[in-house]
Amino acid sequence: MSDDLRNVIIIGSGPAGYTAGLYSARAMLDPLMFAGYMSGGQLMLTSDVENFPGYPQGIGGPEMMMQLREQAERFGLEVEDKNVERVDLKERPFKVWVEGQEFRAETLIICTGAEAIWLGAEGEEEQKGRGISTCATCDGAFFRDEEIIVIGGGDSAMEEATFLTRFASKVTIIHRRDVFKASKVMYDRAASHPKIEIKTFRSVKKWLSDEKGLTGALLEDPRDGSIEQIECSGAFIAIGHKPITSFLEDQIETDESGYIIHKHNTMTSVEGVFAAGDVVDTRYRQAITAAGMGCQASIDAERWLEDQE
Ligand SMILES: Cc1cc2nc3c(=O)[nH]c(=O)nc-3n(C[C@H](O)[C@H](O)[C@H](O)COP(=O)(O)OP(=O)(O)OC[C@H]3O[C@@H](n4cnc5c(N)ncnc54)[C@H](O)[C@@H]3O)c2cc1C
Repeated sequence: MSDDLRNVIIIGSGPAGYTAGLYSARAMLDPLMFAGYMSGGQLMLTSDVENFPGYPQGIGGPEMMMQLREQAERFGLEVEDKNVERVDLKERPFKVWVEGQEFRAETLIICTGAEAIWLGAEGEEEQKGRGISTCATCDGAFFRDEEIIVIGGGDSAMEEATFLTRFASKVTIIHRRDVFKASKVMYDRAASHPKIEIKTFRSVKKWLSDEKGLTGALLEDPRDGSIEQIECSGAFIAIGHKPITSFLEDQIETDESGYIIHKHNTMTSVEGVFAAGDVVDTRYRQAITAAGMGCQASIDAERWLEDQE
């Protein structure tokens, strides 16, 4: 067991975690962060971030995350590039286990984010970020006057497809069935859009590319295995996200998909445990909203600690 009892342990090092770290450090809470298996979070996977305020020319995702870390460390955030294996939230101080060692804290701020669910089709790994994306708000503007496909049949797929018509010359929605999970209003909006075509009974079998990036996909009809080729320079996979909460082992209330539920401001169902960013956010999923929530969680934790005294 580590001897010191921390005011705050922050779990996760995306924009939410580093912002919580910055605020907690500046509030003299002596915070400790476990950065996790992907130090820097999801933005480490992207080359250009053009919608985070303060960067008029845009900035590379990894570079931005390094700057956030540097800023928080300057005020005293202590960062360990390690994964939290499990936690015990039954009593305070809370316990956190990392590589078998036990750490204790009065409050926890959970910022473990979410992962987009990918299709896993042939050629996908190589084209991630080179034409295949899971975020239209983030990457749509890179496909002006180009043909794009969107994979999925739920509200997110309809919303992404409709949004992408602002940039693309044509958007084709690919869905493996002819029944849609999307609400009628979202489906109708997409289906009636002049730039959108919907292809049902198709799933992506293989991504096609050349040296410049994505060029298309081979689509398979699951009913008879027949193959069709579609051309596109951009593809957006919109089949859902998975929040990273399994290490909490059901000690905090989540929704049916595993997203942490806020009970009071950023506080969770466990008093003294706060959560911020994509791990609670089913709607916005942006760096700036995650950072904003990280700030809120830190201020909530600080005020809660004050109230305990
Ligand atoms: C390819 C791509 C491009 C994107 N582009 C943009 C963009 O241009 N603009 C924009 O605003 N948004 C963009 N996004 C979305 C944005 O990245 C997320 O909304 C944002 O990163 C969420 O921040 P977060 O802090 O909640 O979590 P994340 O960034 O997901 O970070 C989660 C952190 O938790 C850590 N972690 C997980 N489990 C554990 C554990 N057990 N112990 C310790 N740590 C753990 C991980 O290591 C990681 O550091 C993009 C996303 C992707 C995937």
